[in-house]
Amino acid sequence: MVNTIGVIGLGVMGSNIALNMANNHEQVAVYNYTRDLTDQLMTKLEGQTLTPYYELETFVQSLATPRKIFLMVTAGAAIDSVIQSLIPLLQKGDIIMDGGNSHYQDTERRYNELHAHGIGYLGIGVSGGEVGALTGPSIMPGGDLHFYNEVAPILTKIAAKADGEPCCTYIGPKGAGHFVKMVHNGIEYADMQLIAEAYTFLRNNVGLTVEEIAAIFDAWNQGELKSYLIEITAEILRKKDDITGLPLIDVILDQAGQKGTGKWTSLQAIDNGIPASIITEALFARYISALKDERTQAQAILAGPANRTQALDKEQWIEHVRQALYMAKICAYAQGFTQYKMTSELYQWNLPLQNIALIFRNGCIIRAEFLNVISDAYDKQADLANLLIAPYFADKTASYQQSLRNIVCEGIQSGVALPCLSSSLAYYDSYRTGISNANILQAQRDYFGAHTYKRNDMEGIFHTNW
Ligand code: NDP
Repeated sequence: MVNTIGVIGLGVMGSNIALNMANNHEQVAVYNYTRDLTDQLMTKLEGQTLTPYYELETFVQSLATPRKIFLMVTAGAAIDSVIQSLIPLLQKGDIIMDGGNSHYQDTERRYNELHAHGIGYLGIGVSGGEVGALTGPSIMPGGDLHFYNEVAPILTKIAAKADGEPCCTYIGPKGAGHFVKMVHNGIEYADMQLIAEAYTFLRNNVGLTVEEIAAIFDAWNQGELKSYLIEITAEILRKKDDITGLPLIDVILDQAGQKGTGKWTSLQAIDNGIPASIITEALFARYISALKDERTQAQAILAGPANRTQALDKEQWIEHVRQALYMAKICAYAQGFTQYKMTSELYQWNLPLQNIALIFRNGCIIRAEFLNVISDAYDKQADLANLLIAPYFADKTASYQQSLRNIVCEGIQSGVALPCLSSSLAYYDSYRTGISNANILQAQRDYFGAHTYKRNDMEGIFHTNW
C-alpha cells in the first residue's frame, strides 16, 4: 500500500484532519502511539478510506516518497518525542509537518535539528477547532518554501475556502507559521473579551435580558460585526440549561481557562517592545476571573459607586455598544497586525499581511467580514505602519470613537469593569497623541539615575544636575 500522506496523533484534531484529507481523495495512513484512538477513528468512518498502522515503522514505510507526515499531537514534549522516533526512519527530503499549537521558538529549534538531517520541517498553524479540522480549517504554514510547495496541493485542498480561494498561504521561514497562529489566538482572546464586555454592558447598564441580547447579536451579525464569534455568542445566549431551565450562561461558572497561546502572544510582545495592551488586558481578565473566591469576598468589602438612578435610552445605547465594539475590535486587530509587522521586521520574515488577513476570512475562530477591510487596507498600502491610519479605519474610528468614550465613561461611573474596551480607547488615544507625557518619565529617569534625555529642539544627549 502506498499512502500519499500520514497523520500521527488521532485525538480531537488529528482524527478530523485525517478524515478531511481522506474526503479530499488522499490515501491517508494513520498512527497513534496508543492503540485505542486508532481503533476509535476506524469505527467513525463514513465511506472514507484510512489505513491504520499500529507500528511507527510500518506506518512510515507505507508512505510514498518524499514522505509527508502531519503531526497533530499535544504541543510540547510529545512533539519532540515523536520527532525523535521518526528521525531514524526517515530519509533526506521527507517532510514532517507540525499542526499543533507549538511555540514558534520550539518550531525553530526543531527546524534547525531536522534541517541538519536534510528533513523538511514545516510548523503549521491550524485554526478552526474540531469542526474546522474536518470541514476546512485556516492553515498557516511556515518553513522552507520548496518543502511547502511539495505539500501545498494537499494543504490547500483541505483548507477552508473564502470567495473560492483556499484559506492557506505560505507564511514565511522557520517558525513564522506558528507565530502567526499564536498571535491569531491572542487576537481571539481580545475579540472574545470585547464581546463579553459588550454583553455585560447590555445586561447591567442597558438592563436587557439574555434573550434580548441574543436577538441584538443576531442583528449585529447581519452587519459590519458579522463574525463567527458574534454568531456563536448569540446561540450560546439562547441555550437553556436542561436542569434549571435558566439561560445556560447564567449557570456557567465565571472562571475562564486558557491554554497558553494568549500568554505567549503577550510575552513575545513585551519582550520585543510591541504594544499589545488589549490582548494582554484580555489575558489578565481571564486571570482575575480565576480568582473567584477572592472576588466573592471582595464584593462584600469594597465599595462601588452609588446606584445610578437614570435609565439609559435602550435604542441609543445599543447603538453606542455596537459602535464601541466595532471600534475596539479595530484597535485590537491593529495591535495584532502591528505585532506581525514589527516581528516580521525583526526576523526579516517578510510576513504577507494582506494574505494573512485573507486566510483568516474563513475556517478560523476569528473569521469575520472585517478581515476583508483589513485585506483591502494592505492591498492599498502594503507597508502601512498601523491599520488605524488606513483611510477606511481612520474614517470609521472618527465616527465611532464617541460611542466608545460613552460606553467606557458609563462603565467607570457605574463601577462595571470593561478592561478591554477601556484599553482599546487608551491605545487609540495614545497612538494619536503626537506629544506624550514620556518627557516626564525621561526627566524622572535622569533625576534619579542620570539616564540622560534627548531634547525636542536640538540634537544630542543631555543630563541635568537636578
Ligand atoms: P487531543 O488531546 O485530543 O490529542 C492529542 C494527541 O496527541 C492524541 O492523539 C495523543 O495520543 C497524542 N499524544 C499525546 N502525547 C503523546 C506522546 N508523548 N507521543 C505521541 N503522541 C502523543 O488534542 P487535540 O487534538 O485537541 O490537539 C492536538 C494538537 O492540535 C495540539 O497541539 C493542540 O494545541 C492543537 N490544536 C488544537 C485545536 C483545538 O481546537 N482542539 C485547534 C488547533 C490546534 P493519546 O491520546 O493516545 O495519548
